[in-house]
Amino acid sequence: MSKDRKERKANVIEVLNKARSMELYAVHQYMNQHYSLDGLDYGELAANMKLIAIDEMKHAEAFAERIKELGGEPTSEKDGKVKTGEEVLAIYEGDAAREDATIDAYNSFIKVCNENGDIVTARLFERIIDEEQAHMNYYENIAEHIKSLGAVYLAKIAGTPSSTGPSKGFVQNGGNQG
Ligand code: FE
Ligand code: FE
Repeated sequence: MSKDRKERKANVIEVLNKARSMELYAVHQYMNQHYSLDGLDYGELAANMKLIAIDEMKHAEAFAERIKELGGEPTSEKDGKVKTGEEVLAIYEGDAAREDATIDAYNSFIKVCNENGDIVTARLFERIIDEEQAHMNYYENIAEHIKSLGAVYLAKIAGTPSSTGPSKGFVQNGGNQG
């Protein structure tokens, strides 16, 4: 017996909300790491962490928009508790592992989309997996640098600028244009 349309939509909404709560967790975890890296004066690392946090916020928003299109309610729950005060290497190893787990989860969510006949949501997950892969490559690369060069690498980063330039928010974009 084929599943009815409503049930198929509900199955897709469920994985979209799982993904959204993973993104909301990542936003909070990466913002926290951004502040601590900035506090340690690793400006370049802090700036990239902030930009990745913004990517994750865009992912959370993209999932919410699709959930709304399907008639669902986007969750506000984050999937996990933010870790604080980690060593720099632990930050990058943990983040690389999180991105890897996210890619794995989203691949399984694509299967759910396909089983429920939703190519649009499957494509959204595909697009976002590409970005998670770029995050993972970056985190792994930094973890490798820290492991192979240690203090020498971190000394090179110390004091680099932490500004992110074009990552404009609402106010910087001119605020309410009415
Ligand atoms: Fe993401
Ligand atoms: Fe990511």
